[in-house]
Amino acid sequence: MKIKKALVIAALALCVQSASAQYNMPTQTFTYDKPYAVEKIATPKGKKVKNVILMIGDGMSLMHVYTAWTANRGKLWLENATATGLSKTWAANKLVTDSGSGGTSLATGVKTNYHAVGVDTEGKPVPSLVDVAKELGKDAGIAVTCRLWDATPCDFCCHNVDRDKEEELVGDYPTSGVDFVFGGGAEKFTNRKDGRNVFSELMQKGYHVSRSLDDFFAYDKNSRVFAVPYDKDTPLPDERGDLLARASMKGIELMNRNKKGFFMMIEGSQLDDYGHFNQLDMLMKETLDFDQTVGKVMKWAAEDGETLVVVTADHETGGLTLVNGNKNEGRVECCFSTRDHSGAMVPVYAFGPGAEHFTGIYENTDVFKRIKQLLTYGVIK
Ligand SMILES: [Zn+2]
Repeated sequence: MKIKKALVIAALALCVQSASAQYNMPTQTFTYDKPYAVEKIATPKGKKVKNVILMIGDGMSLMHVYTAWTANRGKLWLENATATGLSKTWAANKLVTDSGSGGTSLATGVKTNYHAVGVDTEGKPVPSLVDVAKELGKDAGIAVTCRLWDATPCDFCCHNVDRDKEEELVGDYPTSGVDFVFGGGAEKFTNRKDGRNVFSELMQKGYHVSRSLDDFFAYDKNSRVFAVPYDKDTPLPDERGDLLARASMKGIELMNRNKKGFFMMIEGSQLDDYGHFNQLDMLMKETLDFDQTVGKVMKWAAEDGETLVVVTADHETGGLTLVNGNKNEGRVECCFSTRDHSGAMVPVYAFGPGAEHFTGIYENTDVFKRIKQLLTYGVIK
C-alpha cells in the first residue's frame, strides 16, 4: 500500500510538473509588417462544377490560420469560403500522419501507411485526382513551392511505399499523365545514379520543359508544361514575392483552354518546414503568402462561376499555439509543442459551386471522394 501511495504521489507530482512545463514553454513573437487588404468576394452563381482547384497548406491547422489572421490585422482571403469542415488525418498504421500518407488520402481516397506515396497499404499504386481528371478528358496540373520529389506533389503523380525514394519518385513523372507542373528540385531530374535524364524523357512525351521563370511565363502554346526553375525548393517568401500565385494563375490560364475543364492542386509547401524548425516568423510569411494565393484563385473562380476551390491541409506541424497577441498591431506570440507533426484535425474551406458538400466532420479520404463526384458529374449524386 505504501508503495502504491508513493507512486500516486509521484504521478501527481509528474502531472503538476508537466503542466507547469507546458505553460512555461519558450514563446516567439512576430509582427507582420506588410498587412494586405482583403476583399469580400461575391459567391459564384453557377450550380455545376467544371473545374476543381484543391489548395493544400502543408502542416496548416486552425491555429496557423488564426495566428495569420491576427498578424494580418484581423483579415484573411480564406474567410471568403462559404463552407467549412474538419478533416480527420490518421494514417492506416499510425495516428499522427505525414504528407505522404495524409496527402495520399486527399489525392486518392485511400488510407495508407505512414510515409507511403500514391499507394495503398499493400503497396499497390492507386489512381489520384490527376488520373480522375485525365480520364474525364480534363486537364490536370500541380503548382508547389517545394522540390518535386517532396511528398505532396508526388502523392498526386507518383507511387512508392517510401517517400524517401527520391530518385524513384521523380522517375514516375513522365508516366503520370499530369499536364501542367510547376515546382523546384531540378537536380534530381538529371543528376541521377540511374543515369536517366527525366527532362529528356518529358520532352519526348511532348512537354515543354521550362528551366527559367522568364521562359515559363512567356510560354503560351499549350498546357503541357513542366516548369522546374530551381534546383531545390523555390526561394523564401521575401525573395520570391507572389511567385506561387503567379505560377498557379499561369497554370489555370493554360489549362482553362480545355473545354471539359481541369483539376489543379496548389500547395503552400514550406509552412511544414517552418513548423518543423519551430520558426514563427517564416511560418507566418509562408501562411500569409498561401492566403494571398487563395485570394487570387478565389477571385478567378468567382468570375469563372464553374470552379470549386477547396482549401485544406494534410496534417498539423509544430503543435503551434497562439498564447498572446494584438490584432490591431499584427503582433502574435506563440509557442510550439513539437518539432514534428501533431494529431489535430485540420480545417477544410470551400468556395464556389458544390462548396456546401464540404461542411461537417469527415475523413481526409472524403475530400477525394467528394471532389471526384463533383469533377465527374458536376454535382454530388
Ligand atoms: Zn512535415
